[in-house]
Amino acid sequence: MNGWTGRPAPGGPGAGERGTGGPDGLGEDYLDGNALAGPLSEVFLIDMTSARGRCDSCGAVSAIAEARLYVNAPAMVLRCPSCSGVLLRVRRDGGQAVLDLRGFSYLTIDLG
Ligand SMILES: [Zn+2]
Repeated sequence: MNGWTGRPAPGGPGAGERGTGGPDGLGEDYLDGNALAGPLSEVFLIDMTSARGRCDSCGAVSAIAEARLYVNAPAMVLRCPSCSGVLLRVRRDGGQAVLDLRGFSYLTIDLG
């Protein structure tokens, strides 16, 4: 997967389960956070999809893999499975990855 915008190839590495917009009214298809495994593996040396983060909006704690990943945006947007608040934005800008993590109060990362 090159460039991180747009949908990953169907069935490609890191493709997550698909879902549909729920009662939150977003009305967009989304992937689960497992689809972030590829892009984040270029930044972090460990699997970040198992990292657990606390939503700064509602306080829910969930794994990145459990959150909803929206890819039809200028950046990939990960939303809280509880309140749909934005947890994380990630985009690729040339040779740089730009991460916006302000939606997390904190992240807990298992170092193995
Ligand atoms: Zn939340």
